[in-house]
Amino acid sequence: MAKKKAAKAKRATGRKRGRPAGAKNKQRDVVPGALTRCKMCGSTDRHKYEGEPRVMLSAGVDQDGNDYNVISWRRTSCATCGQYRVDQFFEMRPELE
Ligand SMILES: [Zn+2]
Repeated sequence: MAKKKAAKAKRATGRKRGRPAGAKNKQRDVVPGALTRCKMCGSTDRHKYEGEPRVMLSAGVDQDGNDYNVISWRRTSCATCGQYRVDQFFEMRPELE
């Protein structure tokens, strides 16, 4: 009788897929961010903020219902039409409380 050669199922090896072994899968929250927008043309593209932001300690609740303890203003201009503007942010900086 002929010896039966067990056909070994060939497994695809050597091809690494996905993240490297041992790498941790960080849990990241997805947080929608509100971009400031040019009032002239509607673009959200802007130039870099100029200088230091003006900051005022002031607590309240923003339009989205989030608590803030700082209001800041940053000077910039629209990258599309060049309109100058000041971006106002309501920020929560727990370290300042
Ligand atoms: Zn613009």
